[in-house]
Amino acid sequence: MIDFRSDTVTRPCQQMRQAMANAEVGDDVYGDDPSVNALESWAAQRHGFAAALFCSSGTQANLLALMAHCQRGDEYLCGQQAHNYKFEGGGAAVLGSIQPQPIANEEDGSLCFDKLAAAIKPDDAHFARTTLLSIENTINGKVLPLSYMTKARDFTRQHQLQLHLDGARIYNAATALKVDISDICQYVDSMSICLSKGLGAPVGSLLLGSSAVIKSARRWRKVLGGGMRQAGILAAAANIALQQNPNKLQQDHDNAKYLATQLQQFADISLDLNQVETNMVFAHFADSVDLPLVVNKLNENGILISAGKPVRLVTHLDINKADIDHFIAQLRHILT
Ligand SMILES: *Cc1c(COP(=O)(O)O)cnc(C)c1O
Repeated sequence: MIDFRSDTVTRPCQQMRQAMANAEVGDDVYGDDPSVNALESWAAQRHGFAAALFCSSGTQANLLALMAHCQRGDEYLCGQQAHNYKFEGGGAAVLGSIQPQPIANEEDGSLCFDKLAAAIKPDDAHFARTTLLSIENTINGKVLPLSYMTKARDFTRQHQLQLHLDGARIYNAATALKVDISDICQYVDSMSICLSKGLGAPVGSLLLGSSAVIKSARRWRKVLGGGMRQAGILAAAANIALQQNPNKLQQDHDNAKYLATQLQQFADISLDLNQVETNMVFAHFADSVDLPLVVNKLNENGILISAGKPVRLVTHLDINKADIDHFIAQLRHILT
């Protein structure tokens, strides 16, 4: 199958499977797993943080960050479109007793600092305590520039807030900005990274932060049932994803541009090529198109897309230019 639904669908390469088979392991809850320890210490250093924690998913890494930074009755500022507000089952409220304070995202995915400032609560028993700002980069395939990261940093220092970055696809941002990853993370107090998206690991995310934040997150991870034993099997693959695959993301971005350019030939599809900044293409199909039918016909021909308005198409390690050409040919056949 050629799967455009998400970059989470990538399967571990042969080298990862070998590394998993041969991984040195121990009980990670005792701190004894050498492969997990190596991954965490390498990642902390590489990204300029004191410590790191290997987590089962990005959702877990974000939740642990929120629970480490915020106490019961605190609140965090975030975007209305933020993954850790909208797409994580309300975990911060459900499990952390932390209230989200969402703010509408601007067109470019950023959050307006005036609107954020207006949402900060005074120190008064009527209100939750505003403790943290959480931002996301990339957000819906769009990149927040370094200038925005600097402003977010200044804003949080001015208002005595912590700053968390949901960096599920932060390597896509670094690739698009053509900067080193550490140039982006230097501004934040904690950051999550998904290893199981464009970087291609089968399972796992990292949370990075200060020793105190990671110590607290490690405790909450155990409480939430995320203390994994011989997790080195997973860390071995994650390590390859993190060390070898960031420089493959440019290819995904080039492929997304190529895909978008090819889609422009269809009268029934509209999209903005300038919005294609990383590995995502958002294609609007005309109302006259029977989208569920298109999805089914593509599916019968070995191509998976999600029926959305707009349709989100994602490029990744398991999609090459020939796959895109095949998709376009099938689409032409179906639409005409
Ligand atoms: C995918 C994603 C997550 C969550 O990752 P899972 O591993 O699917 O739980 C968090 N934030 C963003 C921005 C994401 O895209």
